[in-house]
Amino acid sequence: MNLSKQIPSASSSEETIAAIATPPGPGGIGVIRISGPLSLHIFQKLFLPRHKTKPQDYENRRMNYGWIVNPESGSPVDEVLAVVMRAPNTYTREDVVEIQCHGSYLVLQEILSIITASGARLAQPGEFTKRAFLNGRLDLTQAEAVVDLIEAKTDEGRSMAVGQLQGRLHEKISSIQDKLVAMRAIIEVAIDFPEDETDILDHAALTHQLKEEVKNPLIELIARADEGKIYREGISAVILGRPNVGKSSLLNTLLEEDRALVTPVPGTTRDTIEEFVNIKGMPVRIVDTAGIRHTTETVEEMGIQRARAKLADAELVLFMLDATEPMTEEDQALYNSVMENSKKQKVLLVLNKIDIAPGTSPEQYSTALGDEPLVSVSAKEHTGILELKDKVFSLITGSRKGLGWDPGAAVVPNVRHKDALKKGLEACLRVEKGLETDVSPDLLAIDLQSTLGHLGDIVGETTTEDVLDMIFETFCIGK
Ligand code: GDP
Repeated sequence: MNLSKQIPSASSSEETIAAIATPPGPGGIGVIRISGPLSLHIFQKLFLPRHKTKPQDYENRRMNYGWIVNPESGSPVDEVLAVVMRAPNTYTREDVVEIQCHGSYLVLQEILSIITASGARLAQPGEFTKRAFLNGRLDLTQAEAVVDLIEAKTDEGRSMAVGQLQGRLHEKISSIQDKLVAMRAIIEVAIDFPEDETDILDHAALTHQLKEEVKNPLIELIARADEGKIYREGISAVILGRPNVGKSSLLNTLLEEDRALVTPVPGTTRDTIEEFVNIKGMPVRIVDTAGIRHTTETVEEMGIQRARAKLADAELVLFMLDATEPMTEEDQALYNSVMENSKKQKVLLVLNKIDIAPGTSPEQYSTALGDEPLVSVSAKEHTGILELKDKVFSLITGSRKGLGWDPGAAVVPNVRHKDALKKGLEACLRVEKGLETDVSPDLLAIDLQSTLGHLGDIVGETTTEDVLDMIFETFCIGK
């Protein structure tokens, strides 16, 4: 892929780093990664190839079969496949070696400790990707996409991450930067030739250009970031209702597996249980609660306190009612307390157990509870669940059918990008105002430069070290 802008490149680190790249726990194979100037040297020390090969003869990016041997004791550690990748055409742009051994934690640890004893140090979280960024292989948005890809919870989130990894956001930002640079060039000429300023600066044309090529694209990206957040981070929902209405059963049905404790005794879901449910590509973190009600029982009290805290965080409340019984005072009191506490939450009434009370009129509940949208379900028989998911999706995304864009094709900034875009937009609006009020070209140049700087933060051209640290700390070790 073509990265049109040059990311500031740091010289390759002198240190060689190593880490286990596969998750902990037994597996078919485990992978260890080494990156840095000593990679090949270390590999040569501990690898005994099946056919004698000199290190310089290891073919680039070709599997080698052999054994890892402890160079101190001479004892064999594991039978492995290993690949040598020479700089600069590697993930980090440094010399890289990847060793595939059997997926045993002890074997992986043993090989890693031999590698570190031979001159490498343990890698920090995200350090391989940080080096890829510092050495100019990825821009910052692509580095962030690596984490998004690893952590994606739905296919939609995954395809958004892939788009960003391909450089889609980077290209969009670059094209806005190019437009700003062209405008800055004109303004600089006007600064250099003040006597010709009126001829050089066509205010109407510049204003038009700024609006079409910078301001509008920035506004569009900011709006997309809010929508993207729904797919990337998901939303948080809480299931509330008096004991025994079927909250745990609904959570289980949504999860399609028995994770929460289901029991006919009221009040036995003592704590809150959180799980992700995929609702039309939107990861919904659902919290099942012990119900918000007054109780003297301590364990349950703790659960209730947590439920209150979760309610404060949630964007959606699934308020459950039991179709086999008319509305009780407890339902009403609980609902009132939800409404008192809920400021921004959307509420969906869920009338459960319609399998044993199919004739129940839902209106009596919704009217009593203030005309909130209502869906009838049977958590036990799995009926009405698709409709529930549809209603949740449209409540969150607005009345539209979907978000109206394809997550696999869109350019979707994250929260950090959005913050920088907003600052960039503010500076851009100052330029617009400046053009309107005829301020001096020097002032226009300052605000244009500030817009450029904020966009530079997104791709990592001007990002400060502490922001970089914050971003890479969220990575796992070995990535
Ligand atoms: P919670 O206290 O609100 O979490 O309620 P539970 O999920 O533990 O359910 C309480 C009881 O109601 C259990 O015996 C469930 O099997 C039963 N139940 C839950 N949902 C349904 C349903 O849709 N239909 C029927 N018939 N029973 C249900």
